[in-house]
Amino acid sequence: MMSDVLFHNTLSRKAEPIQPSKGNLVGMYCCGPTVYAQAHIGNFRTFLSQDVMRRTLQIAGFKVIHVRNLTDVDDKTIAKSREECKPLQEVTELWTKVFHRDCERFNMLKPQIEPRATDHIQEQIDMIANLLDQGHAYATDDGSVYFRVSSFENYGKLSRLKERELTTSAADSSPNDSDEYERDSMADFVMWKSRKEGDGDVFWESPWGQGRPGWHLECSAMAMKYLGSNLDIHSGGEDLIFPHHENEIAQSECSCNSQFFKYWIHCAHLLVEGGKMSKRLNNFYTVDDIEKKGFPPVVLRYALTSGAYRQTINFTMDSLHAAQSALVRLKRFSDDILGTSGLKRSALLKAIGKGKHLKDDWGMFAAAWEKLSNDLNIPAALGSIFTSIKSAKIEELDPEAAAKYAIPYHKLIYALGYDLDQFIAEKPKVDAPEEIKKLAFERWEAKQSKDWATSDQLRDALQKQGWKILDKKDGYVLEPL
Ligand code: AMP
Ligand code: ZN
Repeated sequence: MMSDVLFHNTLSRKAEPIQPSKGNLVGMYCCGPTVYAQAHIGNFRTFLSQDVMRRTLQIAGFKVIHVRNLTDVDDKTIAKSREECKPLQEVTELWTKVFHRDCERFNMLKPQIEPRATDHIQEQIDMIANLLDQGHAYATDDGSVYFRVSSFENYGKLSRLKERELTTSAADSSPNDSDEYERDSMADFVMWKSRKEGDGDVFWESPWGQGRPGWHLECSAMAMKYLGSNLDIHSGGEDLIFPHHENEIAQSECSCNSQFFKYWIHCAHLLVEGGKMSKRLNNFYTVDDIEKKGFPPVVLRYALTSGAYRQTINFTMDSLHAAQSALVRLKRFSDDILGTSGLKRSALLKAIGKGKHLKDDWGMFAAAWEKLSNDLNIPAALGSIFTSIKSAKIEELDPEAAAKYAIPYHKLIYALGYDLDQFIAEKPKVDAPEEIKKLAFERWEAKQSKDWATSDQLRDALQKQGWKILDKKDGYVLEPL
């Protein structure tokens, strides 16, 4: 028994019901992290949205094969290993471990397959050879190989490049050998990069000489290898639409002469305090930074996923406080309804994860499920959940009636991926840095001696640094803003 799940397909610009190519098995390929630093909360907005997609498909009755790659060789990883004078593998192994630890703390489901680009060099070389044979690629004198964009009639179908070019007139057909580029151009892109001095000892032998694959190729080769007959969903952040996904489509469709993935799903970006966030600009937060402010990963998960995934969200500290109190309410209802029904949270969630309870009635949570399965309208689903739990009169229920609420409620909690057993305090507990404590003490002293001007001045200074003082009967408490 499967129910409809609709996702917005960037290819058609429409919400479409997911209909897998084979039975109820959905192949889902997500472009994974570039493992050269700790993933920031923007990256996790995308990875968490994909986790909710997978969980929602599961609750709807689909089986999902989730593949998420690790980009462990590209311009950025090589630059980092040079900067740190460490072998490439040492750098990428370290950041892969940190990534896995963060995913676990966010309660994300592990992909069944997590292929590394460096373990699939042969597959990438084979794909290039095939494209050369078919005339879709050409080698240059320096031993690089480029994809010939003009040989693929549909180039630009995902990002609607041709339509955009009519207005930007940014056509430029000169070959481009960087992994990332932002120009709206029809540039031939690199699939094999000949060895350069800056690559150090990072190179592989190929029929075109020593070198390494271009970034776009790895996803094509690994998606084909692991999901060749289940090319259903391909997903990433919106920055990947062009050129990464456009180039993946070109290489793959030319090499196999058939459609490469049916549904292309993209998550909008996360901004921080209104600005763009990137590893390069060094203005990003990690899950550790947020935890140091007193918020466990489950609270961050809520804050990062409670908006619609196709809309840009602006991350603020206030959103963490709102997430904290929302989770307290969700947990309280879970505790109360489980208490009455006699069910145990971990056992129930485990059973749901294994596909039990799929046939159970949604009851008063039908509207919430309807919103969630309609292109992951999480804000509307949460709104509906809060309305329902407010009207539930648990004290009037017997255990059997309570189970009828508890089961669909926890199916939604499973889909949203909240680990309600992770520590959720009514208020975040956080220890302020020494200099903040010192300022707070000076302010308290000023207040005791009725020096209101100094006291106000110090309160404002603390506020500017992100701390609020709450006066108590015989002292004060510091809270992060
Ligand atoms: P990267 O590690 O840079 O390859 O990125 C991993 C994933 O995070 C990709 O799907 C990106 O599109 C996505 N991503 C990068 N920056 C952001 C952001 N600020 N907000 C949401 N997703 C992002
Ligand atoms: Zn990719």
